[in-house]
Amino acid sequence: MSTLRFYAIKKTLNRKPVHIEEKQRRSEIFGANVFNEATMRQFLTKEAFNSVMAAVETGAKIDRSVADHISTGMKEWSISKGATHYSHWFQPLTGSTAEKHDAFFETIGNGLAIEKFGGTQLVQQEPDASSFPNGGIRNTFEARGYTAWDPTSPAFIYGTTLCIPTVFVSYTGEALDYKTPLLRALFAMDTAAVAVCKYFDKNVKKVNTSLGWEQEYFLIDSALAASRPDIVQTGRTLLGHSAAKGQQLDDHYFGSIPARALAYMRDLEVECMLLGIPVKTRHNEVAPNQFELAPIYDEANLAVDHNSLLMDVMHKVAERHNFRVLFHEKPFAGVNGSGKHNNWSLTTDTGINLLGPGKTPMSNLQFLTFFINTIKAVNDNEELLRAAIASASNDHRLGANEAPPAIMSVFIGEQLTGVLNELENVTNGKLSPEEKTELKLNVVGKIPDVLLDNTDRNRTSPFAFTGNKFEFRAVGSTANCANPMTVLNTIVAKQLRDFKLEVDKLIKKKEMKKDDAIFNVLRDYIKKSKNILFEGNGYGEAWQEEAAKRGLSNHRTTPEALKAKVSEKAIKLFEDMGVMNRIESESRYEIEMEDYILRIQIEGRVLGDIARNHIVPVAVQYQNRLIKNVKGLKEIYGKDFKKFAQEQLNLIEDISGHISSINSDVTRMTDERRTANLIEDFEIRANDYCFKVKPLFDSIRYHCDKLELLVDDELWPMTKYRELLFTN
Ligand code: ADP
Ligand code: MG
Repeated sequence: MSTLRFYAIKKTLNRKPVHIEEKQRRSEIFGANVFNEATMRQFLTKEAFNSVMAAVETGAKIDRSVADHISTGMKEWSISKGATHYSHWFQPLTGSTAEKHDAFFETIGNGLAIEKFGGTQLVQQEPDASSFPNGGIRNTFEARGYTAWDPTSPAFIYGTTLCIPTVFVSYTGEALDYKTPLLRALFAMDTAAVAVCKYFDKNVKKVNTSLGWEQEYFLIDSALAASRPDIVQTGRTLLGHSAAKGQQLDDHYFGSIPARALAYMRDLEVECMLLGIPVKTRHNEVAPNQFELAPIYDEANLAVDHNSLLMDVMHKVAERHNFRVLFHEKPFAGVNGSGKHNNWSLTTDTGINLLGPGKTPMSNLQFLTFFINTIKAVNDNEELLRAAIASASNDHRLGANEAPPAIMSVFIGEQLTGVLNELENVTNGKLSPEEKTELKLNVVGKIPDVLLDNTDRNRTSPFAFTGNKFEFRAVGSTANCANPMTVLNTIVAKQLRDFKLEVDKLIKKKEMKKDDAIFNVLRDYIKKSKNILFEGNGYGEAWQEEAAKRGLSNHRTTPEALKAKVSEKAIKLFEDMGVMNRIESESRYEIEMEDYILRIQIEGRVLGDIARNHIVPVAVQYQNRLIKNVKGLKEIYGKDFKKFAQEQLNLIEDISGHISSINSDVTRMTDERRTANLIEDFEIRANDYCFKVKPLFDSIRYHCDKLELLVDDELWPMTKYRELLFTN
């Protein structure tokens, strides 16, 4: 009997929900472990407080002497909350977060000790950079890297450690993390958007990018997860026959949340409250044991930090509830995958959402300006946007027959399509007063009314306008949002900059009025951005054919998609916008390709091991049982035995067929892997892994899954889909 599998099932069936007691209201504990504005007022001198606030609001530099005051305040606060250590917290390109804890404790001689945390320790640290991916930067330049305080994201206490959000850069200044390019992109966006806002309101001084992510995930009992070597090592199932009942009944979505999962969520939400992560909604997702959690949106840099922190907290809280969280985009074949929708908008310091329609024609012209520029940016950079969400795990969603597809397109809804059609017919050149009045009254002026229910119901669009924000849906559930946010903000910032130049040129050279110039440029953009607009169903062949005709890219795999990151166009774009230099773009490309290779390599090894050492031996064991049975029947019935043993004989043959296919495929896969590993050039190696190694996974899986249906359930070693998905 397969002991581990049945032991795990038994253990799971005996679990009870962990009791969660919430003693305080959530609003009372919100941000309790964050060094936020209120806390800073209490623990900082006025000068120190003002200095941090100026850094947050205008990016002003913090003086070194002031940093000493700030660190003292931070130390006092965190010690009062039980912290013993501090850590620079950052997001290296490994995809998780990194911390190295140092104690406040320091000896001062004569057997005495104090708690110390100075400005120097706050502002800069030197973690050992050699253990983080750098894509060749380290070899070319300097071996060391350092972390530097990012005052725009507040410090927080996690466990007993004061965590200070930081950027991670090489000594030559190249970014080694996700945050650095994001901050640069947000700065570029701020600059470009403010310049455009001035057409409409001279008082605007800052534009903030907002991000509201929606995190999808699976919760699997920890014992069940531990019984599957593929889940343990790759975060997904590499084989397993689908359960008789999957998600076809649609009886999970918004159904009642299972008791254990609910206890987990409540516990998690309390942790989030303490850390100032404003989580708001929780619900079941489409697949069994799949859930979603979303916060109230926030400034993008902070929202990115919150998501990275959340993913870490989710793993930790899961341990208390005997769960394992699966963030993988496709943990189970044939079952809905997980994404992380990125809701994105722009807000001015005067409180206006630039992607929300306003009350006056003028504010709606401003809305249209940002709306159309975003569409144009996506149209011109669709390949780069696709590259921003490429990963080995997200290929299972984007490259497969699951929404959203690998083709980038923008959904805007019927009414706004109508508005764009009207604007497309605006007169070339100066507009007559009548035309302008007509536009303002009947086109631009009517936008607020039409937008009340702008949702993309079929939900297959990778990039959809949903009333007052764009929703980038193609982002994968494992992703660090900084990556897509960096690209999106960079391309839109660049687009806004170009827009401003074009409008100014028309005003100056053609002596047009500002409105006329804006209408003219927008009209032009609408004409040029038609290819990216798509309202239909993104599944299947029809759209793929149509998209190919339109010239849209359709990169189904990561190695194909990532190339766009190092096109001359992309490198120049990032350089022009001050987001990444050539070395940074190229090193990121290399890191992501290497990551792809490693993941497929690990999956290949694990699959080979499971197939050969778990599945085949059990199939042989069962086959032996059948052989014994047939021999017995022959003993009893003599030459007539076939009448009674035919079914068994068929099974014996079928099993042999599958075993031999598995063995030959695993051998081929291993050979392909060995060949690939010898290839020096990472691009060719990644392609080999993608097109020669990975396709063999499918046939190995096919034969293993067939065996699952043939072999005695008692013997089967791998916990089955129905057990993983329906035991809770
Ligand atoms: P859904 O997409 O599930 O229909 P909503 O449209 O209500 O749900 O919002 C989803 C997410 O969008 C939430 O995380 C919310 O905080 C975020 N969001 C709402 N408004 C904005 C905005 N202006 N900018 C960025 N994110 C937003
Ligand atoms: Mg959504």
